[in-house]
Amino acid sequence: MTVQPIRLFGDPVLRTPADEVKTFDRELRRLVRDLSDTMLDEGGAGLAAPQLGVGLRVFSFDVDDVTGHLVNPVLEFPDEEEQDGPEGCLSIPGLYFDTVRRMNVIAKGYNEYGDPMQIVGTGMMARCLQHETDHLDGVLFIERLDSERRKAAMKEIRAAEWYNDAVKVKVSPHEPRRGVFHKLCAWSSPARRKSRCPHCRRSPTVVTNWWRSSPVPTPGWGAVENCPDPRWPPGPMNAASRC
Ligand SMILES: [Zn+2]
Repeated sequence: MTVQPIRLFGDPVLRTPADEVKTFDRELRRLVRDLSDTMLDEGGAGLAAPQLGVGLRVFSFDVDDVTGHLVNPVLEFPDEEEQDGPEGCLSIPGLYFDTVRRMNVIAKGYNEYGDPMQIVGTGMMARCLQHETDHLDGVLFIERLDSERRKAAMKEIRAAEWYNDAVKVKVSPHEPRRGVFHKLCAWSSPARRKSRCPHCRRSPTVVTNWWRSSPVPTPGWGAVENCPDPRWPPGPMNAASRC
């Protein structure tokens, strides 16, 4: 098993468009295995590479007993039919919001060896293919909601335990201009972790992000401190999560 930690809402990597895969090598096959193992471990319907912090256009899926992956996907819509129903995301754990999607999708791409593939999806599979391809474009499903639904969704996200408790800012010399700024810092890349806070130009604040599985405390943004549980989020939330 090569289960990896999943990046959560607020991590800039989830807002960054992923790059096309150019080399179908052993690294890519390892990534595909990580995506599949992590998706199945979390009970998700799909998982895109940016959710593991990798900016490549690859996702895995597991819908209605059809399991697979797709590299460099391009979507086509054969008709105008739509569906409206609950959608979730492993990067926004435990929360579901009704989302309008196209009912029928044809996804064209490649497998891990570079062979052309086509998946014809309807219903839940079509929803999954659209959701995962959105991830590769740096788009989260809450951005597909109309303004009223999105407002309600953001309220629930801000109230979610994982959103408020996963990252605890212990030292914040200045009130951040935007509420989540220091949380974003905590979720950023190792390179950015070393940088100074653009608000106050001070050194990184010590934060707690105990969803990380690393047992070793590290200094700076994203320091892990006395993790009470090596896995996060705890059981029931994982089981309920999709995508
Ligand atoms: Zn997702």
